[in-house]
Amino acid sequence: MLRLFFSMMLCWLPLSAIEHIEHYEIFTKQYQENDTLFLVSRRFELSGVTFYLTTNTQTLQTKVLSFDASKFMPLDENFSKTPFAKQLSDATALQGKGGATHGTTQNDKAIYLTMDLCPSAKKGYESEFIEHLTKQNGKTPIAIALSSAWREHHTKEFEALLKNPLLEITWVNHTHTHFYDPKLVERQNFMLHVNTDVKAEILGVEKTLLEEGITPSVFFRFPGLIADAKLMRELRETYFLIPLGANAWIAKNEPIKTGSIILIHGNKNEPQGIAMMEKKLPDVVKNYKFHAIKEAFVQ
Ligand SMILES: [Zn+2]
Repeated sequence: MLRLFFSMMLCWLPLSAIEHIEHYEIFTKQYQENDTLFLVSRRFELSGVTFYLTTNTQTLQTKVLSFDASKFMPLDENFSKTPFAKQLSDATALQGKGGATHGTTQNDKAIYLTMDLCPSAKKGYESEFIEHLTKQNGKTPIAIALSSAWREHHTKEFEALLKNPLLEITWVNHTHTHFYDPKLVERQNFMLHVNTDVKAEILGVEKTLLEEGITPSVFFRFPGLIADAKLMRELRETYFLIPLGANAWIAKNEPIKTGSIILIHGNKNEPQGIAMMEKKLPDVVKNYKFHAIKEAFVQ
C-alpha cells in the first residue's frame, strides 16, 4: 500500500505526526524508463522501506519512488547529454550571480516569480501581497525558497502557504540554517563561512520538506545569492541542484523583463520590495505571464 501510494503521488501526505525519515543520504545513480533517463539523487528509509528521490532529466520533475534497485546504473555520458545535466552545468558556472538569473527557454512573455523565506524574527508572512497577487492573476506559479530555520518558527504561516489553492508552489532549497552574520564581510558570510556544513545545510531542508509530505525540487537558492566555484561544483557533482539567482531583485530596483527570475522576500524582512512589486502588479499581470520555474529551463 505504502509503495503504491508513493509511486502514484507527486506529493506526500503529511507524515510527521506518524513517523520520521531515517538514513537520509546522497545516492547517485541513473536508470532508463521508456525513452527517458532518470537521475536518482537521494535515498532514505521510512517504516523499513527504502525510497529514492528521482528526477526526470527531460522535464526536471522530481518524484519519490520505492522500487527495485537492480535497474540502477552508475551515471554515464548519457546523463551528461540530458537537458537537466546541461542546465545544471550552465547554471553552476554562474557563481558570481548565485546561479541562473533568467530563463533559457523561449517562452513568450514568461516571467518566473521566486520568494525567499530566510530566517526572520517577524511573525507572519507577506499574506496580503499573496492575496493581491492571486486576486489579480488567478492561480499563480511561484518558487518558494525555504530555510528550515524559517519553517521552524512559522508553522501556521507555512501551512497557510501550503494549503493556498491559488498557489502552484515549487519548493526551493534555501538551506537549513541560512547562516548570516551582519558583522562579517561577504566572502566570509552566508555559505562561505568557514564553519558551513554544506551537507547538513542542503539535506536538512530536503528532510524537512519530505517529512511535511512535500517532494523537494531540483532547485537551490544560495543565501544572499553568495556562492563560490567550490560550492557550485558541489551542487553540480554531488547534490544535483540547479542554483537560482535573479535579474529582477525588486527591492534593488531591477526591472522585470521577459525571462526574468524575479526575487522578493516573503518573510517581512524586505517590505520595500513587496511595496514596489504591489505597485508593478497590474502592469506585470497585463504584459507578462507567470510560469513555473522549471519552464525557465525546459520547454
Ligand atoms: Zn535568504
